[in-house]
Amino acid sequence: MSTVTQPDSVAAPLTAYRAAVVHEFGAPLSVEMVPAGQLTAGQVRVKVEATGLCHTDIHAAHGDWPVKPAPPFVPGHEGVGIVVELGPGVTEVAVGERVAMPWLGYACGTCDHCVSGWETLCEQQKNMGYSFDGTFGEYATAYARYVVRVPEGVDPLDAAPLTCAGVTTYKAVKVAGTRSSDLVAVFGVGGLGHLAIQYAAIAGGRVIVVDIHESKLDLARELGAEFTINAAEEDPIAAIQELGGAHQAIALAVAPRAFEQAYGSLRRGGTLVFVALPADNDVTLPIFQTVLNAITVVGSIVGTRAELREVFALHAAGRTTVIRETRSLEQVNEAIADLEAGRVAARVVFEP
Ligand SMILES: [Zn+2]
Ligand SMILES: [Zn+2]
Repeated sequence: MSTVTQPDSVAAPLTAYRAAVVHEFGAPLSVEMVPAGQLTAGQVRVKVEATGLCHTDIHAAHGDWPVKPAPPFVPGHEGVGIVVELGPGVTEVAVGERVAMPWLGYACGTCDHCVSGWETLCEQQKNMGYSFDGTFGEYATAYARYVVRVPEGVDPLDAAPLTCAGVTTYKAVKVAGTRSSDLVAVFGVGGLGHLAIQYAAIAGGRVIVVDIHESKLDLARELGAEFTINAAEEDPIAAIQELGGAHQAIALAVAPRAFEQAYGSLRRGGTLVFVALPADNDVTLPIFQTVLNAITVVGSIVGTRAELREVFALHAAGRTTVIRETRSLEQVNEAIADLEAGRVAARVVFEP
């Protein structure tokens, strides 16, 4: 005879959770209880295991960019966790699955961009931790169609930085068009740069890294950079031109000067990829040399869900290394100060 066991207690619906909140641009974030809210059609609730700190979160908290989020809001778009609740109509994921919640939190699915595999350009897109509350909390709400499953064997603490820093640099290397034996110059080592080095090498490139911190150049060499240049000590343009000039340069440092140096480091026919988003929005590039040298300048914004799957697959196969340090969410303001001062080797990951 079978017995039916009654649970001792039925879990009460989640009404509130701890999160790091921006109340005012430029002010410290406040870790406090926020209301959980009811899920609407297509949404899922995720218990956050890990969430990385990206420069974009700092720009959001400072209101640095032309399009600003509306305080109060919860930043965070490198969230990884377990689905705990499904909103009406959700069939794409199941309770108990581990998912990543990237910057592209929602897109329309039907516009020209969406149907051609460029959902990252959708004009109806909503962004995690910017246009709706993000992952700097014990829980987060996401859209089931725009989360990406994290495969078995990928540590959630690694998956978090891969969710933005990983997919963004993976895409940037794709956009750069790196092929075997190309010289690829990566400007800026940090959360993005340390992964860009690895993706450029996986694509077959020979990697040159430019930074102003010696410790970051050491890290770059460990991760496969063949040449490193300290831009505080020598002119990176001259140094890279001496190597023959870069086929591709990837601008990841949040300083317009680094973009100009990246441009100057190219060989004829080279490609400059803009990725970082400095608060100072202006860069000066020469028209004459761009035309005569047939230079390509291209912007690259995050990556698609398909590309994030590829990023996870590479990591599951042991092809990439994520450099990260973990902190509690309570340390969010210290972590931001450390990142801004260049005291973080690569990525801070919070464990809410
Ligand atoms: Zn990011
Ligand atoms: Zn769309």
